[in-house]
Amino acid sequence: MKVSAIIVAGGRGERAGGALPKQYQNLLGRSVLAWSLEAFAAAGVDDVIVVCASEHEALARTAARGHRLRFAAGGATRTASVRAGLALSLDADIVLIHDAARPGLSAKMIQTLIAEINDGAVAVAPALPIADTLLRTNAAGAVDAELDRRNVVRVQTPQAFHGDVLRGAYKRAGSDSVFTDDLSVVRAAGGEAKLIAGDPNLMKITHPEDVAMVANLLNGERIVCVGNGIDAHRFGPGDFVTLCGVRIAHDKGLIGHSDADAGWHALVDAILGALGEGDIGAHFPPSDARWKGADSERFLRHAAHLAEQAGARILHVDVTLVCEHPKIGPHRESMRTRTAEVLGLPLKRVSVKATTTERMGFLGRGEGLAAQATPTLDRPV
Ligand code: MG
Repeated sequence: MKVSAIIVAGGRGERAGGALPKQYQNLLGRSVLAWSLEAFAAAGVDDVIVVCASEHEALARTAARGHRLRFAAGGATRTASVRAGLALSLDADIVLIHDAARPGLSAKMIQTLIAEINDGAVAVAPALPIADTLLRTNAAGAVDAELDRRNVVRVQTPQAFHGDVLRGAYKRAGSDSVFTDDLSVVRAAGGEAKLIAGDPNLMKITHPEDVAMVANLLNGERIVCVGNGIDAHRFGPGDFVTLCGVRIAHDKGLIGHSDADAGWHALVDAILGALGEGDIGAHFPPSDARWKGADSERFLRHAAHLAEQAGARILHVDVTLVCEHPKIGPHRESMRTRTAEVLGLPLKRVSVKATTTERMGFLGRGEGLAAQATPTLDRPV
């Protein structure tokens, strides 16, 4: 008996905000789409068809790393997209159709749905009761009736179908017809729908704030971690220094294996510290010729990437530069801007400041320059 899953990832997801469509956004260390793929794999469903916008296929392939999939090009509507997926699953005895925007899918839910079809149902979906009062409004938005919520449910996905029944129902529906789900297509063709208990974790990501809500549902416990990093570099011959990504003319240079950007080195070390990921030397050994003269932007992007992979969010960073010269004040805003750009943070969550040691010690004598950084991260326990 062949089971195929069709995951509808065709939406461009404008409503959910973010640079990427919602199904490819990061959710606790993996893409929203990957959560559903892992559930299907865990449930033993090995034929999975992802229907996505053709221009997003590369994104979907990246999001699906490690999973074997087939792809279909999405249509103008959800109904057209499912139709495209069905065209690739003509021999499936059971077809499950799922929205990629519902990442809280469990293998148990998939197995329960398949068991219902094996027991003779033709169309099954999870559904939840409604706790809120339901009011009907008229075209002007005024309340005109109260609905009996006892007779109303919220229907989720995945929805499971007897393959022939679903394909027959799509054939009967006009090619331009539009439905909000597939149970409705089968019902329109006279098929009987069965509902089983839904799962609150299957909430659909629609609005920008939903990503954080789903993350809370799927991984309740998070902690705030504060990292700490310190770096120092010795002055040497040269006519500029690079600090927090900004090149500043100076009568000396900084000596280092890379570009000697002590500000960003301290910050990278501190982010690694908050993640428990060792130190900058372990990730970019000074013995490795690849990092000779390297732009420290690369190190900072690496630290930010590790944070993302770990499902962490950098909330705020504070960098303090310690030196008598060069004067940091005139360059402070450029340093904040560059750091905010690389970390993808709003400017107000990036602080760069400077101090001196009142001419005491090696910093006071101008032998070198030091930096300290303190980032705050929100991450899974
Ligand atoms: Mg350094």
